[in-house]
Amino acid sequence: MKPAGKLIVMAGPSAVGKGTLASHIVANFDGYVLSVSATTRSPREGEIDGVSYAFLTDEQFKNRAETGQMLEWATVHGKHSYGTPRGPVEEGLASGFNVILEIDVQGAFQVKESFPEALLVFVKPPSFEELRARLDKRGTESEEDKRIRLETARTELDQAYQFDFSVINDEVARCAQEVVDLVQTT
Ligand code: 5GP
Repeated sequence: MKPAGKLIVMAGPSAVGKGTLASHIVANFDGYVLSVSATTRSPREGEIDGVSYAFLTDEQFKNRAETGQMLEWATVHGKHSYGTPRGPVEEGLASGFNVILEIDVQGAFQVKESFPEALLVFVKPPSFEELRARLDKRGTESEEDKRIRLETARTELDQAYQFDFSVINDEVARCAQEVVDLVQTT
């Protein structure tokens, strides 16, 4: 039987590039899969249901959370609910895959409670100014939403010390290699 895989939780501010980092790892290293989160926010242009997120109504989300189908869930940026469906994570780990969760800081701490062996990796921007620039460049949020995300980012950066490791996403390939090295040596 294959040994169980590792659970890797990547958290960090909005627009720090967690998604790109996680996709890079899955595309370039064997044995990694990405968990698809559920959310109550509306799809952005180009996002596909079941691939980018499982897009749920408030009612559907509430029902899944209440019936224990979410490994963790949180209200992010004070607006929408986001959560990790439990089933695919447990199946992935049991099949020997390293499963990556790309979630917010509150969710990361919840996962650590139910999976103490999870590796919590905090993804930092090279600087706060760079984070602002990446958020502007992404261009998917209104000015008000950007303001909220940067405010949340400050609180999140203050919590980085509670993670097992922090990495700086200065260059995707380099940072991805650093995360994979951490997984292999931990
Ligand atoms: P966005 O709306 O930009 O896709 O995501 C907003 C935030 O929600 C990101 O910081 C992301 O990490 C967080 N997020 C995405 N999926 C999950 C999840 O399953 N659980 C939690 N707790 N946060 C999530």
